Amino acid sequence: MNEINAVLESSHAAFQQYKKVSGADKSVFLQAIASEIEALGQPLIATAMEETNLPEARLVGERGRTCNQLRQFAALVKEGSWVDARIDTAIPDRAPLPKPDIRKMMVPLGPVVVFGASNFPFAYSTAGVDTCSALAAGCSVVLKAHPAHPKTSAMVAHAIEMAVEKTGMPKDVFIHVQDSSFEAGKALVQHPLTKAVGFTGSFSGGKALYDYATQRPEPIPVFAEMGSINPVFILPEAMMVRGDKIAEMYAASITQGVGQFCTNPGLLLSVENPALKNFATQLAERMKAIGPGTMLHSGIANSFVKNRAKALEQKGVVLLAESVEKAKENQAASTLATVKASEFIHNHQLVEEVFGPYSLLVTASTIGELKAAAAKIPGQLTATIIGEEADLIAFADFIDLVIEKAGRVIINGVPTGVEVCPSMHHGGPFPATTDSRFTSVGIDAIKRFVRPVSFQNFPQQLLPAELKDNNPLGIWRLVNNEFKK
Ligand code: NAP
Repeated sequence: MNEINAVLESSHAAFQQYKKVSGADKSVFLQAIASEIEALGQPLIATAMEETNLPEARLVGERGRTCNQLRQFAALVKEGSWVDARIDTAIPDRAPLPKPDIRKMMVPLGPVVVFGASNFPFAYSTAGVDTCSALAAGCSVVLKAHPAHPKTSAMVAHAIEMAVEKTGMPKDVFIHVQDSSFEAGKALVQHPLTKAVGFTGSFSGGKALYDYATQRPEPIPVFAEMGSINPVFILPEAMMVRGDKIAEMYAASITQGVGQFCTNPGLLLSVENPALKNFATQLAERMKAIGPGTMLHSGIANSFVKNRAKALEQKGVVLLAESVEKAKENQAASTLATVKASEFIHNHQLVEEVFGPYSLLVTASTIGELKAAAAKIPGQLTATIIGEEADLIAFADFIDLVIEKAGRVIINGVPTGVEVCPSMHHGGPFPATTDSRFTSVGIDAIKRFVRPVSFQNFPQQLLPAELKDNNPLGIWRLVNNEFKK
């Protein structure tokens, strides 16, 4: 634990310098990280393939996404308006009381502890969105590598360290920690100099970190993205008109990446009719034909076997289909089960995530029962509605209910495949995340690691550049209730 103390002391010392680095210089730093990662070339991809069992094309794509994220944040901080500057100038002769000069903007929180994720070795790990948004905000980062891909993490960490050196950033603005023990994770979260935490993984992991943080004498925010089963509601008209097409689309989405995505559709819900029977048959046939896939590591494969078995032994749950090909060691069989909504409504276990290529088809006997089943689903990252125009109009109130449950609501699509863009919200009500107000995808992720400060009656020379009268950075600001550059 002495080591962890030294890590946080160093991170805190680096933060004292880094918080003063300009947006333009942070931008150069973030771009340099992207270039250094790209310079690692094929050996990085080969190492990640060896450690995660993920295919080359997926890893090349994920590396591209990671560098793209870094460059999006680089552009954001270079432009600078993200600090939300507000300026209300003084009115000394206002009656009955004079109005003081008050100016507000976002400032970085301090050292942030980030836990790398197992299922995204690049995009949610060492230089992933948590690290890059915290660095963009002006925070220092202590990264706890995920034990499932230590070599990949060390290579990316080295790339960040090279970027630190080449761009003259404070030496310990990024510190890489490799220690696969819960004690180390707990100590990092509970260290008094830690000011926030970023996490992607299981519900039990995220909730444990959240609890450590709230038990501290000074509680701190934990931005944990945890389990989600991403319900898909297939409305009656769409089921009749294009059940076959929906089955094809969903067989692919459920099994994409061996189901190891937080947006995997683990729950399909619809109303009983002949078209639903045909859909179930079509989906089952397609799932049987999709062979088992190798999972990220043995721990995740074992959890899949255990959680799938637990789901299948629940009252009323029937196995509809599994990969015809037998699963080998560390592989997961594509699995489709079904249950009646009348059972689903009374069994909380059925809304637990089965992380992997698994989905449960819930069949409601009436639209009222479908609505009752929807009401039992806890907070989610996403929810999807598949409907024809007539369905969507008839179910407008139902869609309103669904919006209360999820951070992203999709009409006629699949939840897998998260676009990295400013309008993306990747978050959702608990238990999907610990704070539904924030996203872990897109430039708004920076908002997790800042806090507003009002500067009252500050002389010009002591104000941050963003708040000075002459607007030296030329950013958008709300000045006396009017947006101006
Ligand atoms: P995990 O078990 O949640 O672990 C992620 C990280 O959190 C690891 O670094 C782990 O520490 C740390 N951690 C977990 N519990 C902790 C605790 N009580 N105290 C301190 N640190 C703790 O996730 P995983 O290893 O990636 O996969 C396990 C399961 O998580 C999967 O089977 C799957 O169900 C789920 N998962 C879900 C998502 C999603 O997006 N919804 C993504 C990935 C995984 P150590 O390094 O010490 O192990």
